[in-house]
Amino acid sequence: MGFRTKQVHAGVTPDPTTGAILTPIFQSTTFVQDSVDEYMGKGYSYSRGGNPTVRAFEEKLTALEQGHDTTAYSSGMAATVAVFLGLLQAGDHVVIADVVYGGTYRFADQFLSKFGVDVTFADASDPAAISEVMRPGTRLVFTESPANPTLKVTDLEAVSEIASSAGVLHVTDNTFLTPYFQRPLELGANIVIHSTTKFLDGHNATLGGAVVVDSQELHDRVAFARISAGLIMSPMVAWLTMQGAKTLSERMDRQSASALEIARWLGGHPKVDYVNYPGLPSHPQFELSSRQASGFGAMVCFEVHGGSETGKKLMDSVELWSLAENLGSVESLITHPVTMTHAAIPAEERVKAGITDGLVRLSVGLEDVEDLIDDLDSALSRV
Ligand SMILES: *Cc1c(COP(=O)(O)O)cnc(C)c1O
Repeated sequence: MGFRTKQVHAGVTPDPTTGAILTPIFQSTTFVQDSVDEYMGKGYSYSRGGNPTVRAFEEKLTALEQGHDTTAYSSGMAATVAVFLGLLQAGDHVVIADVVYGGTYRFADQFLSKFGVDVTFADASDPAAISEVMRPGTRLVFTESPANPTLKVTDLEAVSEIASSAGVLHVTDNTFLTPYFQRPLELGANIVIHSTTKFLDGHNATLGGAVVVDSQELHDRVAFARISAGLIMSPMVAWLTMQGAKTLSERMDRQSASALEIARWLGGHPKVDYVNYPGLPSHPQFELSSRQASGFGAMVCFEVHGGSETGKKLMDSVELWSLAENLGSVESLITHPVTMTHAAIPAEERVKAGITDGLVRLSVGLEDVEDLIDDLDSALSRV
């Protein structure tokens, strides 16, 4: 079955009692059991462990990522935390890409060490840099590609190979490209993490996360962490995210086409120092991006002449673009990573990772691209 058919139909069957075409929102804490001997006979007991609406969304995402199974969470960070809780113990070592979502960095930096897990941050765009820091106690390698916010790309197949030959799990955050453009499990990764808050929902309506795995053993371990820590997605969020996901491919196609046009336009603007977009031949990993993904995504970042001051002025001058955290929605958003999404990363580490003070991050939405460019153009003329 093709991706578009699956995104509409996977996980959803008409409700047997009423014929409702959409999976109902099972807004119920508990599920009545037929008898003590048939506990969980219908598959559910208490909504912290599982819920039929959440399950429908999980089945849809499993089909889209071509995984073994999925668990859904209250946020992308809850998904990441469940993976750490389910797979690590004191004394373990993890390797994390040096450019990752700010919250992932913060959790690894501030909490993993408290529980006796050792963390090394390494440049995942260079597979050799990953092998160099791996050691006997390494349990997992965590990547994100393209990475938030600089759009650095990791060779997912090469890193998967390095990890698996050492018996280490490769976990990757696929939020930016979604399974429509990139399927890391097919490239050898073991676990895919999503902030469903972003493109999968796509409408700035919900906060959610998901973990898609390649084996039953991994599924059991993260599901156990989820029920123990109480990290599950709510039925209402699962329902809304499922509705959003049905148009994922159409939004990704349109938003990425606009992103490419905006990136090209910015590249020719005299007030712009540089533009990072994996779909521009000037991106250092353009070839790799073209090979491992079928699209380049809707995120663009650039630096304006004059650094931080000019960047801030630009962000205060736009009108159609909204100055806001979040990304992946139908509304176009503009963000200043240093003061907003990545403020948790120490300045020194930020500079090393290329997250400069004047960096501007765009999440290109579904508006007419001419209007988006006009608005950037008039804002740039005022800075
Ligand atoms: C937003 C984001 C997260 C965290 O997701 P939340 O839903 O905000 O908790 C994780 N990874 C990436 C790449 C993100 O953009």
